[in-house]
Amino acid sequence: MQDTPDRYSRHILLEVVGQTGQDKIQKARVLVAGLGALGSTICILMARAGVGFLRIVDKDAPELHNLHRQILYNEIDVSLGIPKAHAARINLLSVASNVEIDAINEEIAKTNIYRLLDGIDLVVDALDNSETRFIVNDAIVDLKIPYIFGGAVETVGNVMTIIPGRTPCLRCIWPDPSSIVGHAKAATVGVLSSVASLVASVQVTEAFKVMVGDIESAIPGILVIDVWKNQFHVVPVKPNPNCDCKKINS
Ligand SMILES: [Zn+2]
Repeated sequence: MQDTPDRYSRHILLEVVGQTGQDKIQKARVLVAGLGALGSTICILMARAGVGFLRIVDKDAPELHNLHRQILYNEIDVSLGIPKAHAARINLLSVASNVEIDAINEEIAKTNIYRLLDGIDLVVDALDNSETRFIVNDAIVDLKIPYIFGGAVETVGNVMTIIPGRTPCLRCIWPDPSSIVGHAKAATVGVLSSVASLVASVQVTEAFKVMVGDIESAIPGILVIDVWKNQFHVVPVKPNPNCDCKKINS
C-alpha cells in the first residue's frame, strides 16, 4: 500500500515526537530478541509506528498455550507449525508493508550474537531466560548499543533501559548470572497476559525515547510493576565500577 503523509500524524502531533522524532523512528534499526508475549506486542507497536528496520529473532513455533498472550499469532500459525519469526513477519507486513523485517529462526547464542547485532542501533529484550539475556548484555556493552531490558512473570514486570557507559548493565546489578537462573518462569508459575502487554508497551516507550534522542526521559532505574497489587515504582540503580562485563569484553 502507498504511504500517505498522514500515516503517522498522531505521533507527529506529539510534542515529544514531532516530525523530527518520527523521521528518526523511521530510520531506526532495531533487534527484537525473542518473539513470545513481550516480543509480540513490541513488534506490533514498532512496526505500526514505522520503525524502519526490524530484525526479529526466535527459534520456536507458536503453540496453543502461547495464544493467550502472544498476540502476533493465530490458530492457523499454530496448526501449520510455522516458526514464530516467519509467522510474525507475515503478520507484521500485513499492517506495515513499508517496514523492512529480517526474520531469523535461530536461538540467540554467543556464536551468533555479533552477527545478529550487525547494523543494529537498538536492542529490545523479549527473552524468557537469564542466560541468553547475559549473552546479549555483554555484546551490547561491548558494542555500546542501547538495550531495553524487560521481563514479566506471574503478575509482576520489570523494565530497565541500559545505555552502555551511562547506566548500569545487567551484570552491574546481578554480578552472578547463576544466582538468577532459578527465577520463576511463565512455564512454571504462569504469567498474566495483561502484565506482559504492559511491560512490552513500556519497553517500546523507552525505545521511542532512545530513538528520538530523549535519553534524559528514560526510566531512572528498574521499573517494578505488580498489576494485581497496584504497585508501580522505580528502584534506583548505579553502575558498578568493577562490573564483570568490562573484563569479559576486554
Ligand atoms: Zn555492567
